[in-house]
Amino acid sequence: MCDGFDVGISRPCDLLYLPRLEFLPVSISFQIEAISGSGRAGKLVTPHGVVETPVFMPVGTLGSVKGISQDLLEELGVRILLGNTYHLYLRPGVDIVRRMGGLHRFMSWERAILTDSGGFQVFSLNELRKVTEEGATFRSHLDGASHFLSPERSMEIQIGLGADIVMAFDECTEYPADGARVRASMEMTLRWAGRSKRYFEEHKNEVPWGGSSQLPALSSQPVALGSQPPGASRQGLQIPRFARDDNSEPDGDDNSGGADFIGQTQALFGIVQGGMDRELRRESALRTVEIGFPGYAIGGLSVGEPRELTREIVESTLEFLPADKPRYLMGVGTPEEIALYGGMGVDMMDCVLPTRAARHGLLFTSEGRVSIKQVRYAEDSGPLDPACSCFVCGRYSRAYLRHLYASNELLAQVLNTLHNLHFYLETMRRVRESMLGRAQGCT
Ligand SMILES: [Zn+2]
Repeated sequence: MCDGFDVGISRPCDLLYLPRLEFLPVSISFQIEAISGSGRAGKLVTPHGVVETPVFMPVGTLGSVKGISQDLLEELGVRILLGNTYHLYLRPGVDIVRRMGGLHRFMSWERAILTDSGGFQVFSLNELRKVTEEGATFRSHLDGASHFLSPERSMEIQIGLGADIVMAFDECTEYPADGARVRASMEMTLRWAGRSKRYFEEHKNEVPWGGSSQLPALSSQPVALGSQPPGASRQGLQIPRFARDDNSEPDGDDNSGGADFIGQTQALFGIVQGGMDRELRRESALRTVEIGFPGYAIGGLSVGEPRELTREIVESTLEFLPADKPRYLMGVGTPEEIALYGGMGVDMMDCVLPTRAARHGLLFTSEGRVSIKQVRYAEDSGPLDPACSCFVCGRYSRAYLRHLYASNELLAQVLNTLHNLHFYLETMRRVRESMLGRAQGCT
């Protein structure tokens, strides 16, 4: 019986699944490079490359960051993307993604991916859902069809999608909520965390790119299985070599362009809930850590509460999470907030804000927010952000960007999204550089 697993190293029970391997399966490892105050700069090593932390993860809801192709994401320096289980489950469906070799191969993205559990989207459906101890029944926002998600089903779907990091199925408690409701919800999330872990431990070797699904080839020839998974012929398609570089190789010694995933597995993170109650957050954190995960997320925030309260809850939760494990703050926030949380010791963050705002013409710059639709930019020949090194700011004027947006040109969404993502990624890089002691003129 598995009783937990430490960062990257599975316990001997995994040998039941992989009896012929001479090494233990690896999921992720986390190395802290520098500590500055409460913050830390680290490296998260995943089966699909190294992620420098603190990191901002762009949201690729349906296997796509809206408006931006994968090669552009690579050029931006994105190392890890987030995919939404709820959306991918409805379209194109987990069976299709699995048969295409998993989400990495399906969307031609060789770097790391994290999927959420689907819970947040389901709980956002309000009238369209019913939650019981067993799980959540909900109606698709697409066609009204009835579906059911449980800890086990969420794990089954996330294993089929094949992200490097998957999330336990949790209930995102609404805000505001009374004390009894928050406690009951937190207790159920803890029970669901246990169920998620049990199912994951029993099935994690079914991931499309590793584990026991690769075993038939192990006894015959030592091929780089990641480059040609069973049943997922590339039919001539190639993932470009530049998708992974030296820094992205988990082993550091394989620069062949084909990843070797033998014996590697996904990593399951637990999620702390507890609403806006500090005591319940503490209890949720301690009991989630007791269950044992290689990383921990803080969920249930940015649900309508004041920003100052978000910060307080994050701060009081972080102190009860293990210092040597990655910490992921879900669904937060503005550029100022991600810098703040990075400095507080959060290692991973995601938010739809930079991409969604870009599509509405709201751009983040070193001089503050710019609403590019405004007529004041109609004849502004200057760059969007003079201090930005992205190729949008290096090439186009505010006047042109304003024209594209006002004319509803598709290119407006592409360029706006490129800039905003660059701004977010640069914000995190500056926080990281600052903590590494190599900052130049940044706080
Ligand atoms: Zn720019």
